[in-house]
Amino acid sequence: MLHPPTKGALIHYHEIALKGKNRGFFLKQLAANLRMASRDLEVGPLRRPAGRFYLEMRGGTPWEALRERFSSVFGIANFAAAFRVPPDLELMLKRIESEVAGRSFASFAVAARRAFKTFPQTSQEINQVIGTRVRLASGAKVDLSSPDLTIYIEVLPDEAFIYFEKIQGPGGLPVGVSGTVVCLLSGGIDSPVAAYRMMKRGCRVVFVHFHSQPFADRTSQEKATELARLLTRYQFASRLYVVPFGETQQEVVARTAGRFRVLVYRRLMLRMAEEIARKEGAQALVTGESLGQVSSQTLENIAAIEEAATLPILRPLVGMDKEEITHQARQIGSYEISTIPDQDCCSMFTPRQVVTRATDDEISLTERPLDLELLVQQALSTARLVELSFPA
Ligand code: ATP
Ligand code: MG
Repeated sequence: MLHPPTKGALIHYHEIALKGKNRGFFLKQLAANLRMASRDLEVGPLRRPAGRFYLEMRGGTPWEALRERFSSVFGIANFAAAFRVPPDLELMLKRIESEVAGRSFASFAVAARRAFKTFPQTSQEINQVIGTRVRLASGAKVDLSSPDLTIYIEVLPDEAFIYFEKIQGPGGLPVGVSGTVVCLLSGGIDSPVAAYRMMKRGCRVVFVHFHSQPFADRTSQEKATELARLLTRYQFASRLYVVPFGETQQEVVARTAGRFRVLVYRRLMLRMAEEIARKEGAQALVTGESLGQVSSQTLENIAAIEEAATLPILRPLVGMDKEEITHQARQIGSYEISTIPDQDCCSMFTPRQVVTRATDDEISLTERPLDLELLVQQALSTARLVELSFPA
Protein backbone atom coordinates (compact mmCIF):
# COMPACT_ATOMS: atom_id res chain seq x y z
CA MET A 1 0.00 0.00 0.00
CA LEU A 2 1.25 3.41 -0.93
CA HIS A 3 0.74 6.09 1.71
CA PRO A 4 -1.15 9.18 0.54
CA PRO A 5 1.58 11.44 -0.80
CA THR A 6 2.75 14.51 1.06
CA LYS A 7 3.46 17.21 -1.44
CA GLY A 8 4.87 20.67 -1.02
CA ALA A 9 7.20 23.32 -2.35
CA LEU A 10 10.88 22.42 -2.24
CA ILE A 11 12.88 25.62 -2.46
CA HIS A 12 16.55 26.11 -3.28
CA TYR A 13 18.48 29.31 -2.71
CA HIS A 14 21.79 30.43 -4.19
CA GLU A 15 24.48 29.25 -1.81
CA ILE A 16 26.90 31.62 -3.46
CA ALA A 17 24.85 34.65 -2.41
CA LEU A 18 24.93 33.53 1.18
CA LYS A 19 28.59 33.31 1.92
CA GLY A 20 30.01 34.70 5.10
CA LYS A 21 28.58 35.80 8.37
CA ASN A 22 25.34 37.20 6.92
CA ARG A 23 24.12 33.72 6.09
CA GLY A 24 21.90 33.24 9.13
CA PHE A 25 20.39 36.68 8.69
CA PHE A 26 19.66 36.04 4.99
CA LEU A 27 18.01 32.70 5.67
CA LYS A 28 15.87 34.13 8.42
CA GLN A 29 14.65 36.88 6.11
CA LEU A 30 14.02 34.46 3.25
CA ALA A 31 12.03 32.23 5.62
CA ALA A 32 9.97 35.20 6.82
CA ASN A 33 9.30 36.22 3.20
CA LEU A 34 8.24 32.71 2.19
CA ARG A 35 5.79 32.68 5.08
CA MET A 36 4.47 36.12 4.13
CA ALA A 37 4.01 35.10 0.50
CA SER A 38 1.92 32.08 1.52
CA ARG A 39 0.22 33.48 4.59
CA ASP A 40 -3.34 33.20 3.20
CA LEU A 41 -2.86 29.65 1.88
CA GLU A 42 -3.26 26.44 3.84
CA VAL A 43 0.27 25.14 4.30
CA GLY A 44 2.29 23.32 6.93
CA PRO A 45 5.06 24.86 8.98
CA LEU A 46 8.04 26.02 6.92
CA ARG A 47 10.90 23.56 7.41
CA ARG A 48 14.54 23.86 6.52
CA PRO A 49 15.93 20.41 5.70
CA ALA A 50 19.67 20.55 4.88
CA GLY A 51 20.23 23.65 2.76
CA ARG A 52 16.69 23.87 1.37
CA PHE A 53 13.25 25.00 2.44
CA TYR A 54 10.18 22.80 2.35
CA LEU A 55 6.61 23.98 2.75
CA GLU A 56 3.94 21.31 2.77
CA MET A 57 0.68 22.02 0.94
CA ARG A 58 -2.40 21.22 2.98
CA GLY A 59 -6.14 21.25 2.49
CA GLY A 60 -7.03 22.17 -1.01
CA THR A 61 -4.12 24.52 -1.66
CA PRO A 62 -3.40 24.22 -5.38
CA TRP A 63 0.18 24.13 -6.57
CA GLU A 64 -0.52 26.95 -9.00
CA ALA A 65 -1.13 29.31 -6.09
CA LEU A 66 2.21 28.57 -4.46
CA ARG A 67 3.95 28.62 -7.80
CA GLU A 68 2.67 32.09 -8.53
CA ARG A 69 3.60 33.42 -5.09
CA PHE A 70 7.10 32.02 -4.99
CA SER A 71 7.95 33.28 -8.45
CA SER A 72 8.20 36.74 -6.86
CA VAL A 73 10.14 35.91 -3.70
CA PHE A 74 13.67 37.21 -4.21
CA GLY A 75 16.40 34.91 -2.97
CA ILE A 76 14.89 31.76 -4.52
CA ALA A 77 17.19 30.14 -7.08
CA ASN A 78 14.69 27.46 -8.11
CA PHE A 79 11.74 25.60 -6.67
CA ALA A 80 9.53 22.60 -7.38
CA ALA A 81 6.34 20.82 -6.44
CA ALA A 82 7.93 17.88 -4.65
CA PHE A 83 6.68 14.64 -3.12
CA ARG A 84 8.19 13.88 0.25
CA VAL A 85 8.89 10.18 0.96
CA PRO A 86 11.03 8.24 3.44
CA PRO A 87 14.67 7.89 2.35
CA ASP A 88 14.24 4.35 1.12
CA LEU A 89 14.89 3.24 -2.44
CA GLU A 90 11.87 0.90 -2.62
CA LEU A 91 9.46 3.56 -1.34
CA MET A 92 10.95 6.15 -3.68
CA LEU A 93 10.44 3.75 -6.58
CA LYS A 94 6.83 3.08 -5.65
CA ARG A 95 6.07 6.80 -5.55
CA ILE A 96 7.82 7.41 -8.85
CA GLU A 97 6.05 4.52 -10.55
CA SER A 98 2.68 5.72 -9.40
CA GLU A 99 3.41 9.30 -10.50
CA VAL A 100 4.79 8.49 -13.94
CA ALA A 101 2.06 5.93 -14.67
CA GLY A 102 -0.34 8.66 -15.77
CA ARG A 103 2.16 10.52 -17.92
CA SER A 104 3.09 9.96 -21.51
CA PHE A 105 6.74 10.36 -22.41
CA ALA A 106 9.00 8.75 -24.97
CA SER A 107 12.25 9.52 -23.18
CA PHE A 108 13.34 10.34 -19.65
CA ALA A 109 16.32 10.97 -17.38
CA VAL A 110 16.83 10.42 -13.69
CA ALA A 111 18.72 13.14 -11.82
CA ALA A 112 19.36 11.83 -8.32
CA ARG A 113 21.39 13.67 -5.72
CA ARG A 114 22.46 11.98 -2.55
CA ALA A 115 23.19 14.83 -0.20
CA PHE A 116 24.50 12.51 2.52
CA LYS A 117 26.94 9.64 2.36
CA THR A 118 25.00 7.64 4.92
CA PHE A 119 22.47 6.57 2.28
CA PRO A 120 23.55 3.10 1.06
CA GLN A 121 23.47 3.83 -2.70
CA THR A 122 25.46 6.50 -4.51
CA SER A 123 23.68 9.03 -6.75
CA GLN A 124 24.80 7.02 -9.78
CA GLU A 125 23.41 3.79 -8.35
CA ILE A 126 20.09 5.45 -7.58
CA ASN A 127 19.94 6.72 -11.17
CA GLN A 128 20.59 3.23 -12.49
CA VAL A 129 18.10 1.37 -10.31
CA ILE A 130 15.32 3.85 -10.89
CA GLY A 131 16.18 4.31 -14.56
CA THR A 132 15.90 0.58 -15.19
CA ARG A 133 12.58 0.23 -13.39
CA VAL A 134 11.02 3.22 -15.13
CA ARG A 135 12.30 2.03 -18.49
CA LEU A 136 10.75 -1.41 -18.01
CA ALA A 137 7.47 -0.04 -16.71
CA SER A 138 6.99 2.68 -19.33
CA GLY A 139 8.81 1.46 -22.39
CA ALA A 140 10.41 4.90 -22.70
CA LYS A 141 14.10 5.24 -23.43
CA VAL A 142 16.72 6.99 -21.37
CA ASP A 143 17.88 10.28 -22.86
CA LEU A 144 20.20 12.38 -20.75
CA SER A 145 20.52 15.33 -23.13
CA SER A 146 16.90 16.30 -23.93
CA PRO A 147 14.46 14.00 -22.16
CA ASP A 148 10.67 14.46 -22.29
CA LEU A 149 10.58 13.85 -18.56
CA THR A 150 13.20 14.41 -15.87
CA ILE A 151 12.80 12.61 -12.57
CA TYR A 152 14.57 14.64 -9.90
CA ILE A 153 15.43 12.94 -6.63
CA GLU A 154 17.09 14.50 -3.61
CA VAL A 155 18.00 12.17 -0.80
CA LEU A 156 18.53 13.75 2.62
CA PRO A 157 19.22 11.95 5.93
CA ASP A 158 15.60 11.76 7.08
CA GLU A 159 13.59 12.13 3.91
CA ALA A 160 13.74 12.16 0.15
CA PHE A 161 12.11 14.52 -2.35
CA ILE A 162 10.89 13.63 -5.81
CA TYR A 163 9.81 16.11 -8.47
CA PHE A 164 9.44 16.43 -12.21
CA GLU A 165 9.73 20.12 -12.95
CA LYS A 166 12.35 22.56 -11.71
CA ILE A 167 11.05 26.13 -11.83
CA GLN A 168 13.46 29.02 -12.14
CA GLY A 169 13.16 31.42 -9.18
CA PRO A 170 13.65 35.17 -9.47
CA GLY A 171 17.12 35.10 -7.86
CA GLY A 172 18.40 38.18 -6.06
CA LEU A 173 18.52 38.76 -2.32
CA PRO A 174 15.60 38.41 0.11
CA VAL A 175 13.77 41.72 0.49
CA GLY A 176 14.73 43.20 3.84
CA VAL A 177 18.38 42.17 4.06
CA SER A 178 19.69 45.37 2.49
CA GLY A 179 17.71 47.93 4.47
CA THR A 180 15.15 50.51 3.35
CA VAL A 181 15.27 53.00 0.47
CA VAL A 182 12.85 55.68 -0.73
CA CYS A 183 12.04 55.52 -4.45
CA LEU A 184 10.72 58.52 -6.35
CA LEU A 185 7.92 56.90 -8.34
CA SER A 186 6.67 59.06 -11.18
CA GLY A 187 4.12 56.94 -13.00
CA GLY A 188 6.49 56.72 -15.98
CA ILE A 189 8.23 53.62 -17.32
CA ASP A 190 11.59 53.96 -15.60
CA SER A 191 11.05 54.45 -11.90
CA PRO A 192 9.00 51.26 -11.27
CA VAL A 193 11.79 49.29 -12.92
CA ALA A 194 14.32 51.07 -10.69
CA ALA A 195 12.26 50.12 -7.61
CA TYR A 196 12.05 46.51 -8.79
CA ARG A 197 15.81 46.28 -9.20
CA MET A 198 16.44 47.64 -5.73
CA MET A 199 13.97 45.14 -4.27
CA LYS A 200 15.86 42.41 -6.07
CA ARG A 201 18.98 43.56 -4.27
CA GLY A 202 17.23 43.05 -0.95
CA CYS A 203 15.86 46.55 -0.30
CA ARG A 204 12.50 47.38 1.19
CA VAL A 205 11.19 50.26 -0.92
CA VAL A 206 9.06 53.15 0.33
CA PHE A 207 7.43 55.02 -2.58
CA VAL A 208 6.97 58.77 -3.04
CA HIS A 209 4.88 60.28 -5.81
CA PHE A 210 4.55 63.99 -6.57
CA HIS A 211 1.46 65.24 -8.38
CA SER A 212 0.04 68.58 -9.52
CA GLN A 213 -3.59 68.21 -8.53
CA PRO A 214 -5.67 70.41 -8.70
CA PHE A 215 -3.74 71.79 -11.69
CA ALA A 216 -3.71 68.33 -13.23
CA ASP A 217 -6.14 65.42 -12.91
CA ARG A 218 -5.75 62.39 -10.67
CA THR A 219 -4.36 60.04 -13.33
CA SER A 220 -0.72 60.16 -12.26
CA GLN A 221 -1.69 59.41 -8.66
CA GLU A 222 -3.81 56.47 -9.74
CA LYS A 223 -0.99 55.15 -11.89
CA ALA A 224 1.53 55.51 -9.08
CA THR A 225 -0.85 53.65 -6.74
CA GLU A 226 -1.33 50.83 -9.25
CA LEU A 227 2.41 50.59 -9.83
CA ALA A 228 3.09 50.45 -6.10
CA ARG A 229 0.39 47.80 -5.78
CA LEU A 230 1.99 45.73 -8.53
CA LEU A 231 5.43 45.99 -6.91
CA THR A 232 4.05 45.07 -3.49
CA ARG A 233 3.96 41.41 -4.50
CA TYR A 234 7.75 41.43 -4.12
CA GLN A 235 7.84 43.00 -0.66
CA PHE A 236 4.40 42.10 0.80
CA ALA A 237 3.77 45.50 2.37
CA SER A 238 4.33 48.96 0.88
CA ARG A 239 3.94 52.56 1.89
CA LEU A 240 3.30 55.15 -0.80
CA TYR A 241 3.46 58.87 0.00
CA VAL A 242 1.39 60.93 -2.42
CA VAL A 243 2.68 64.48 -2.20
CA PRO A 244 0.90 67.52 -3.71
CA PHE A 245 3.51 69.43 -5.64
CA GLY A 246 1.40 71.90 -7.64
CA GLU A 247 1.60 74.80 -5.21
CA THR A 248 5.33 74.34 -4.86
CA GLN A 249 5.61 74.53 -8.63
CA GLN A 250 3.49 77.68 -8.78
CA GLU A 251 5.82 79.26 -6.29
CA VAL A 252 8.85 78.22 -8.34
CA VAL A 253 7.26 79.55 -11.53
CA ALA A 254 6.54 82.88 -9.84
CA ARG A 255 10.06 83.35 -8.55
CA THR A 256 12.59 81.68 -10.84
CA ALA A 257 13.83 81.83 -14.41
CA GLY A 258 12.31 79.28 -16.80
CA ARG A 259 15.46 77.45 -17.88
CA PHE A 260 16.32 76.25 -14.40
CA ARG A 261 12.90 75.25 -13.27
CA VAL A 262 13.14 71.53 -13.96
CA LEU A 263 16.31 71.37 -11.90
CA VAL A 264 14.70 73.32 -9.08
CA TYR A 265 11.66 71.00 -9.10
CA ARG A 266 13.91 67.97 -8.98
CA ARG A 267 15.94 69.40 -6.14
CA LEU A 268 12.78 70.12 -4.19
CA MET A 269 11.53 66.60 -4.82
CA LEU A 270 14.76 65.23 -3.43
CA ARG A 271 14.54 67.40 -0.34
CA MET A 272 10.99 66.19 0.28
CA ALA A 273 11.91 62.57 -0.38
CA GLU A 274 14.78 62.92 2.04
CA GLU A 275 12.45 64.12 4.79
CA ILE A 276 10.32 61.05 4.20
CA ALA A 277 13.44 58.86 4.19
CA ARG A 278 14.42 60.20 7.59
CA LYS A 279 10.98 59.43 8.97
CA GLU A 280 11.03 55.93 7.48
CA GLY A 281 14.57 55.09 8.54
CA ALA A 282 15.63 54.78 4.89
CA GLN A 283 19.30 54.98 4.01
CA ALA A 284 19.20 56.04 0.36
CA LEU A 285 17.01 57.56 -2.35
CA VAL A 286 16.29 55.81 -5.67
CA THR A 287 15.36 57.34 -9.02
CA GLY A 288 14.71 55.98 -12.49
CA GLU A 289 17.29 58.23 -14.11
CA SER A 290 19.26 56.89 -17.04
CA LEU A 291 22.23 58.81 -18.31
CA GLY A 292 21.49 61.08 -21.26
CA GLN A 293 17.85 60.03 -21.64
CA VAL A 294 16.51 63.57 -21.29
CA SER A 295 18.10 66.97 -20.79
CA SER A 296 17.77 66.82 -17.00
CA GLN A 297 19.82 63.62 -17.02
CA THR A 298 23.17 64.87 -18.27
CA LEU A 299 26.12 64.36 -15.92
CA GLU A 300 26.16 68.10 -15.17
CA ASN A 301 22.50 68.17 -14.25
CA ILE A 302 22.62 64.93 -12.31
CA ALA A 303 25.34 66.58 -10.22
CA ALA A 304 23.35 69.79 -9.86
CA ILE A 305 20.24 67.89 -8.77
CA GLU A 306 21.91 65.50 -6.39
CA GLU A 307 23.71 68.28 -4.58
CA ALA A 308 20.36 69.09 -2.90
CA ALA A 309 20.33 65.76 -1.05
CA THR A 310 22.59 64.42 1.64
CA LEU A 311 21.59 60.76 1.41
CA PRO A 312 23.13 58.66 -1.36
CA ILE A 313 21.03 58.59 -4.55
CA LEU A 314 20.91 55.21 -6.22
CA ARG A 315 20.16 55.06 -9.94
CA PRO A 316 19.93 51.40 -10.85
CA LEU A 317 19.04 52.24 -14.48
CA VAL A 318 21.83 54.73 -15.11
CA GLY A 319 23.62 52.52 -17.65
CA MET A 320 20.56 50.98 -19.30
CA ASP A 321 19.01 52.21 -22.51
CA LYS A 322 15.29 52.74 -23.02
CA GLU A 323 14.88 49.44 -24.86
CA GLU A 324 16.36 47.44 -22.01
CA ILE A 325 14.28 49.31 -19.45
CA THR A 326 11.10 48.83 -21.50
CA HIS A 327 11.83 45.12 -21.86
CA GLN A 328 12.12 44.77 -18.12
CA ALA A 329 8.98 46.86 -17.55
CA ARG A 330 7.06 44.45 -19.76
CA GLN A 331 8.40 41.47 -17.85
CA ILE A 332 7.35 42.96 -14.52
CA GLY A 333 3.98 43.99 -15.93
CA SER A 334 4.43 47.68 -15.13
CA TYR A 335 4.62 48.79 -18.76
CA GLU A 336 0.86 48.65 -19.33
CA ILE A 337 0.24 50.88 -16.30
CA SER A 338 3.10 53.27 -17.05
CA THR A 339 1.95 53.94 -20.60
CA ILE A 340 -1.55 55.10 -19.64
CA PRO A 341 -1.54 58.78 -20.69
CA ASP A 342 -1.33 61.28 -17.83
CA GLN A 343 -0.27 64.81 -17.08
CA ASP A 344 3.19 64.57 -15.60
CA CYS A 345 3.70 67.24 -12.99
CA CYS A 346 7.09 68.27 -14.31
CA SER A 347 6.06 68.70 -17.92
CA MET A 348 3.10 70.87 -16.95
CA PHE A 349 5.05 73.69 -15.41
CA THR A 350 8.03 73.28 -17.66
CA PRO A 351 9.23 75.71 -20.28
CA ARG A 352 10.27 74.34 -23.64
CA GLN A 353 13.90 75.12 -23.08
CA VAL A 354 15.86 73.37 -20.33
CA VAL A 355 19.52 73.94 -19.56
CA THR A 356 21.76 70.92 -20.04
CA ARG A 357 24.63 72.34 -17.96
CA ALA A 358 23.80 74.25 -14.83
CA THR A 359 26.53 75.45 -12.51
CA ASP A 360 26.23 75.41 -8.71
CA ASP A 361 26.26 79.21 -8.69
CA GLU A 362 23.42 79.45 -11.14
CA ILE A 363 21.36 77.00 -9.13
CA SER A 364 21.86 78.66 -5.77
CA LEU A 365 21.13 82.05 -7.30
CA THR A 366 17.94 80.66 -8.79
CA GLU A 367 16.80 79.17 -5.49
CA ARG A 368 17.62 82.26 -3.41
CA PRO A 369 14.12 83.82 -3.57
CA LEU A 370 12.52 80.55 -2.39
CA ASP A 371 11.85 79.55 1.20
CA LEU A 372 12.89 75.95 0.59
CA GLU A 373 12.30 74.74 4.12
CA LEU A 374 8.78 76.13 4.13
CA LEU A 375 7.95 74.65 0.71
CA VAL A 376 9.11 71.23 1.87
CA GLN A 377 7.13 71.37 5.09
CA GLN A 378 3.98 72.67 3.42
CA ALA A 379 3.94 69.95 0.79
CA LEU A 380 4.68 67.17 3.27
CA SER A 381 2.05 68.34 5.74
CA THR A 382 -0.61 67.68 3.09
CA ALA A 383 0.86 64.39 1.81
CA ARG A 384 -1.40 61.35 1.76
CA LEU A 385 -0.15 57.93 2.87
CA VAL A 386 -1.35 54.82 1.01
CA GLU A 387 -0.65 51.45 2.62
CA LEU A 388 -0.72 48.34 0.48
CA SER A 389 -0.25 44.67 1.22
CA PHE A 390 0.14 41.40 -0.67
CA PRO A 391 -1.41 38.91 -0.33
CA ALA A 392 -4.27 41.36 0.23
P1 ATP B 1 10.22 57.89 -15.36
O1 ATP B 1 9.99 57.02 -16.56
O2 ATP B 1 10.54 57.13 -14.13
O3 ATP B 1 9.12 58.90 -15.18
P2 ATP B 1 11.71 59.77 -16.88
O4 ATP B 1 12.46 59.12 -17.97
O5 ATP B 1 10.40 60.40 -17.20
O6 ATP B 1 11.54 58.72 -15.69
P3 ATP B 1 12.43 62.23 -15.55
O7 ATP B 1 11.10 62.79 -15.80
O8 ATP B 1 13.65 63.05 -15.81
O9 ATP B 1 12.70 60.86 -16.27
O10 ATP B 1 12.47 61.78 -14.02
C1 ATP B 1 13.64 61.22 -13.50
C2 ATP B 1 13.28 60.54 -12.20
O11 ATP B 1 12.79 61.50 -11.26
C3 ATP B 1 12.17 59.51 -12.33
O12 ATP B 1 12.65 58.27 -12.76
C4 ATP B 1 11.65 59.47 -10.93
O13 ATP B 1 12.48 58.67 -10.11
C5 ATP B 1 11.76 60.93 -10.48
N1 ATP B 1 10.49 61.63 -10.74
C6 ATP B 1 10.18 62.41 -11.78
N2 ATP B 1 8.91 62.88 -11.68
C7 ATP B 1 8.41 62.38 -10.53
C8 ATP B 1 7.15 62.49 -9.84
N3 ATP B 1 6.14 63.20 -10.34
N4 ATP B 1 7.01 61.82 -8.66
C9 ATP B 1 8.01 61.08 -8.16
N5 ATP B 1 9.21 60.94 -8.77
C10 ATP B 1 9.42 61.59 -9.93
MG1 MG C 1 8.69 60.63 -16.19
